[in-house]
Amino acid sequence: MTQEIYDTNNIFAKILKGEVFCEKIYEDSFVLAFNDVNPQALHHVLIIPKGAYMNLKDFSEKALDKEVVAFYKAIGKIADKLGVTDKGFRVVSNHGKDGGQEVSHFHIHFLAGEQLGKKLV
Ligand code: AMP
Repeated sequence: MTQEIYDTNNIFAKILKGEVFCEKIYEDSFVLAFNDVNPQALHHVLIIPKGAYMNLKDFSEKALDKEVVAFYKAIGKIADKLGVTDKGFRVVSNHGKDGGQEVSHFHIHFLAGEQLGKKLV
């Protein structure tokens, strides 16, 4: 089995380092959230941990409890901030090649602001 290594130059790592601009929606000590450059819904926010985790499995296995808690709490805070908590939203995480993951820094897509179709992101 090949052991994947986190690429410190992936685009989200560059955003975290401040080398690439993002439209920030939310930030705390462990989490950053920003608008997707290619939105698939009225609100399309990417939520990422600040730690270097490649995907959902990597994050769930290696992240500290406080990182995991902050990450999941951020979802509700972002929903409130965007005013979509009552109307609803969707979160999606693509994992690996078959999952369609393009950026190998763990992230979830937060989609809202309109009636969402069956398949998105
Ligand atoms: P995924 O296919 O789940 O890895 O999703 C990667 C997402 O990152 C895509 O929806 C892209 O549109 C988005 N993306 C790529 N580069 C940037 C960037 N510089 N700023 C914001 N979103 C980006």
